[in-house]
Amino acid sequence: MTRYTVTTAIPYVNGRPHVGHALELVQTDVLARYHRQRGHAVRFQSGTDDNALKNVQGAEAAGVSVAEFVARGASRFAALGTALDLSFDDFIRTSSDPRHRPGVEQLWAACAARGDLYRKAYSGLYCVGCERFYDRSELTADGLCDEHGTAPELIEEENWFFRLGAYQDQLVELVESGRLRIEPASRRREVLAFLRSGLEDFSASRSVARARGWGVPVPGDPGQVIYVWFDALANYITAPGYGTDPAQFDQWWTGGERVHVIGKGIIRFHAVYWPAILLSAGLSTPDTIFVHEYVTVDGAKISKTAGNAEDPAEIAQRYGSDALRWWLLSEVAGSGDTDFTHARLVNRANEDLANNLGNLVNRTASMIHRYRGGVVPTSTVECLDALPLRKVRATAGATIGDALEAFDFRRAVEAVTAIGDAGNRYVEAVKPWHLARNGDDERLDAVLAELVATGRDIAVHLAPFLPAAAERIAIQCGQSFDPLPEPRPVFPRLQAG
Ligand SMILES: [Zn+2]
Repeated sequence: MTRYTVTTAIPYVNGRPHVGHALELVQTDVLARYHRQRGHAVRFQSGTDDNALKNVQGAEAAGVSVAEFVARGASRFAALGTALDLSFDDFIRTSSDPRHRPGVEQLWAACAARGDLYRKAYSGLYCVGCERFYDRSELTADGLCDEHGTAPELIEEENWFFRLGAYQDQLVELVESGRLRIEPASRRREVLAFLRSGLEDFSASRSVARARGWGVPVPGDPGQVIYVWFDALANYITAPGYGTDPAQFDQWWTGGERVHVIGKGIIRFHAVYWPAILLSAGLSTPDTIFVHEYVTVDGAKISKTAGNAEDPAEIAQRYGSDALRWWLLSEVAGSGDTDFTHARLVNRANEDLANNLGNLVNRTASMIHRYRGGVVPTSTVECLDALPLRKVRATAGATIGDALEAFDFRRAVEAVTAIGDAGNRYVEAVKPWHLARNGDDERLDAVLAELVATGRDIAVHLAPFLPAAAERIAIQCGQSFDPLPEPRPVFPRLQAG
């Protein structure tokens, strides 16, 4: 049995969920659902990064305890599970999940035992937004963080450092050999260039004073707290049981396939720091890291300060989760950022869902009722004019499989709309209403049977992408040869506003 783990990054909870989070969650959900459909054992894992310094500052600003602040923030992300039809198998909160801290401590101890952690006095420019130090050369001409547009602060303290430099050759070999696959290829090249430019050790702890005592203390050094990225990355292994449930951890992490889905802003942490930490601890590295681009709103990068963060739960409530999922899957590009607007979402949903797939299902169900009293006919008549439609139906599964293997979500959903296109063309070409008028019952039976089979195919192929809609289509097209339910539009026609 193939065991397949697919994860999202865990977001900081000090901000509200925005449409960019929805992209990553939906892409990951599709991979999970597709693999389940293939009969694989799947763990779809998400969660929240509660131990960031930013949360401490956010709680201070809000005048509540850090624990209360992060619980409130985390619940907004967990609630996306229902709002976006996500099939989470596991959702880990790094501050409160009892599995997390023992695993982080064990990971730290394993790296320390390897001799990869050492103390050193340090000063550097720190962006709290990114939770990382920057070289001056990495900042904008004005000395600002490119991600946040803010000036990093100068920090001086004694920290624990991780010997990242010691892993340079192993990391290059991992990526070059493809044992760590990074998609798309442009991101793989970016990682290789960074690896070859030379790796500096990174600071893996913070003073308790600066962290305000929030986070996991360094084992044996209570004056230091483990760096939030070391802590957060560990979620990928603490959830399946590293440090608490060795048998389950072996089954899922060591013995299974490991796939991370992340945004382009955090590649270095996932494709460089994280595999190095795992190598140091003697653990398996990820098999694949898929890097998605950003969703912008009105042409601007989403940020709290810009006030342009569209709330995915609100969008889904207004237009339906199908419409939002469909837009994210069918329009977000594999390279370059994609701009979200309500009009684009509405147009895409009306064109592909209401006018194409929905129309085909609806006219099929309506004709079965009008001409056959709701009972799906059986037929042994060969319809030669159905061959183009048959071909599209027969190849959809392989196309979807290839596309998802390449993380090309747009190509995958196009294979579903292609069935709708071919089905609607078939209806226009054979004109079942003419067959009915002319009393050509044998051929009408054959055409109607063909259309119902097409609707059932659509339901199957659509299921990983739009699970709720796929179920409605399956019901409309009848799972058995009992009379079909009264036809009802599967997709509403949406209006932007
Ligand atoms: Zn930053």
